[in-house]
Amino acid sequence: MQKIQENVPLAPLTTFKVGGTARYYVQVTDTTSLMKAREFAEKNKLKEYIFGGGSNILFSDKGFSGIIIHMVGGGKEAENDRIYAGAGVPLGDVVSLAQERGLSGIERLAGVPGSFGGAVRGNAGAFGTEIGNIVEKVKAIDLKSGILREFSQSDCEFGYRTSIFKKYPHLLVLSADLRLKKGADPDALLATMRETLAKREAKHPQDIPSAGSFFVNPIVTDKSLHEIFERDSGMPSKNGRLPAGWLIDRVGLRGKQIGGAKISNQHPNYLINTGNATAEDIITLASIAKTRVRNEFSIQLKEEVQYVGF
Ligand SMILES: Cc1cc2nc3c(=O)[nH]c(=O)nc-3n(C[C@H](O)[C@H](O)[C@H](O)COP(=O)(O)OP(=O)(O)OC[C@H]3O[C@@H](n4cnc5c(N)ncnc54)[C@H](O)[C@@H]3O)c2cc1C
Repeated sequence: MQKIQENVPLAPLTTFKVGGTARYYVQVTDTTSLMKAREFAEKNKLKEYIFGGGSNILFSDKGFSGIIIHMVGGGKEAENDRIYAGAGVPLGDVVSLAQERGLSGIERLAGVPGSFGGAVRGNAGAFGTEIGNIVEKVKAIDLKSGILREFSQSDCEFGYRTSIFKKYPHLLVLSADLRLKKGADPDALLATMRETLAKREAKHPQDIPSAGSFFVNPIVTDKSLHEIFERDSGMPSKNGRLPAGWLIDRVGLRGKQIGGAKISNQHPNYLINTGNATAEDIITLASIAKTRVRNEFSIQLKEEVQYVGF
């Protein structure tokens, strides 16, 4: 296990670049180091928080008074049509490994930031691909009992941006195996990845500090709203949901700014840090968006981003 550090600034570890300090912080690479970190937490009666790539988290301005357990690495391997990877491996490295080995099925996740474990936990998806569809099995530890468990794809209860690991945060993803399709041309996969990255960049510059889509796209039962959306955007609505960004735009909040936090002009479901945003600015802006959408459409937006330390 790496040395446990004290009073570690959290902002630089996240894509939002916001947040105070962690009382304790440690990087863990395997089950043994994870256990040691947990022993320390137990002995010192500390709250624990599992951290992957920091791309879906908003830390409070006062930070976190317990211990941040940062999952890093864990190894990756490709064999036949399978890829195994540890939770702390960047998702992008898994996508690249698949491309090099001519394994297709994950190339449209190129550019989704964060760790492999974080992606499995949130069933990360983009451009019609969801990681849950290609997961074969997941190794996880039950942090309550300390028992290691293996989950088949159906045990994982993957759904839109969710899984059993999100539903029950005491289930920590340690690693997962993906099943992909053999025999793809690595050059063709690379071309698809590049095209995907270009599309992402056109939708929203990916290097502006944010946590990606801030709200989950809500299920909307009002048919007339779907009709308006379809007329407006020229696109069909999907699975009974409407884009949160479209709703935020409809209530006139595109470009709205509070302190250093701003609703992106380009993609209104992105709340961005213009440089000096505090967590307070961001949650104030988020609550304005939630209130306005609720008042206007009776729709309750829910955060995809995880609030920590509030
Ligand atoms: C610019 C940008 C673009 C994005 N685009 C997309 C997109 O296209 N599609 C998409 O789905 N997401 C997107 N996201 C959101 C984000 O990248 C994903 O949600 C990502 O999978 C989060 O992984 P992470 O490792 O960064 O998680 P973190 O931010 O580190 O953690 C998020 C949550 O997951 C938990 N967690 C982390 N690791 C584990 C683990 N091993 N086991 C159990 N729980 C764990 C944490 O406790 C926390 O609750 C985007 C984000 C940004 C900043």
